[in-house]
Amino acid sequence: MLKVEHIGIAVKDFTNAIPLFEKLLNSQCYKTEIVEREQVNTAFFRQGDTKIELVQSLSDDGVIARFIEKKGEGIHHIAFEVEDIFTEIARLKAEGFVFLNESPKDGADNKLVCFLHPKNTNSVLIELCMKKD
Ligand code: ZN
Repeated sequence: MLKVEHIGIAVKDFTNAIPLFEKLLNSQCYKTEIVEREQVNTAFFRQGDTKIELVQSLSDDGVIARFIEKKGEGIHHIAFEVEDIFTEIARLKAEGFVFLNESPKDGADNKLVCFLHPKNTNSVLIELCMKKD
């Protein structure tokens, strides 16, 4: 894996969270992007070599809404950038890891993404992402 590409944080609404993180990080949110199939809106901040991704649910029963209901707002996932997501999926499957989605799907920020099942990763939701181009 190349680096921590971003850390995903589940928030209830951007109205409060974006200005808060702009103040906290002393950097402007440089884009928001809706991921229709996941029913989420995302907001990105650059922080040196990595990013913070705020994730807000667009529906009451989406994954982020359910996460916040269960655990409250907070860190939702850690995303690692990989050079070749297909090779990395094969490597991790051979190591016994289980994926929530085995075939990568379109994520925010022009990426192919997949998630590991947190039951095998000390309850940390891990995202793998690869730049599409
Ligand atoms: Zn993410």
